[in-house]
Amino acid sequence: MKKEDIKAVINEAKTDINSLDLESFRVKYIGRKGLISDFFSEFKNLSIEDKKELGPILNEAKTELNDLYIKAKESCTKDKKDFFDYTLKGNKIEVGSLNPATIVLRELCSVFKELGFQIIEGPEIENEYYNFDALNIPKDHPARDLWDTFWFPDNLKLIGEKDKGRCLLRTHTSPVQMRFMEKNLPPFNVIVPGRTFRYEATDARHEFQFHQLEGLMVSENINLSNFKIIIKEAMQKIFKGTRKMRFLPSYFPFVSPGLQVDIECFKCRGKDKKCPLCSGSGWIEVLGAGMVHPKLFEIAGYPKGKYQGFAFGIGVERFAMVKYLIDDTRLFNSTDLRFLKQFK
Ligand SMILES: [Zn+2]
Repeated sequence: MKKEDIKAVINEAKTDINSLDLESFRVKYIGRKGLISDFFSEFKNLSIEDKKELGPILNEAKTELNDLYIKAKESCTKDKKDFFDYTLKGNKIEVGSLNPATIVLRELCSVFKELGFQIIEGPEIENEYYNFDALNIPKDHPARDLWDTFWFPDNLKLIGEKDKGRCLLRTHTSPVQMRFMEKNLPPFNVIVPGRTFRYEATDARHEFQFHQLEGLMVSENINLSNFKIIIKEAMQKIFKGTRKMRFLPSYFPFVSPGLQVDIECFKCRGKDKKCPLCSGSGWIEVLGAGMVHPKLFEIAGYPKGKYQGFAFGIGVERFAMVKYLIDDTRLFNSTDLRFLKQFK
């Protein structure tokens, strides 16, 4: 042990006090197994002359490092009752990421909120009445075949709605339309975000569980132009003009006339006749819509002919596919972190 060794340790400590956390500093220099302790262990074996020379230096070094530590510790506790060592390194917290369907659903909600729509919700376990009958899809009507359904056993009924048929997992968010209209008079603009279920085989475009965003605008003097303006505005806010879209006639029993909105296929842009996403058409349907069928207003108990309105249902995963160029809808529920982590 030489004078220079002790000096070198002091110099190192002066740098470390600014870069190490306090506890690591204490352990390294002044702890029981620290560098100063090491010097004292060596000291015992020194000659008398060396002891005379190095003794005071070593004692001074010990005091200096102790002071350094205490001063730094005091600066952490300044004006604070309890000691809080802000120099300690924190634990790294793994931050999760949102599913792209959630991101799109939230974005859609905020876009429609900006356009004056109010968010409402309804049950995922529905009864036959609200899912089908009240939406102008009576029993034995061929239109019911459009929705393959998960049914509950006959004896299970929703509390307070025992007379409203068998229970099922809702096949769309549309039942909430009738639940809302039964209790509210127009004018209103509402959206219904939520999970929906279909009993069907899965492929790149189909899943048995997915999300929809239902929209309903009812008032006096509402027509299809109002619908087109709202949807064009919403699409513009989301895609910022980067995707072409088109309106086509379509059929749903609860609207008349019915239409669908397609967005151009990002995968092939109509150039691949075997494209698994658009089947070669060049378009992907993301939205079904139309003017609310007068029969629904009648079921809701509204005065005949007084109100008009439009309704639309957006396939949220379809939307996310078009937005993020995802070519297989099964990825959303795959829990594959390599997929999910791309959407932080
Ligand atoms: Zn395509």
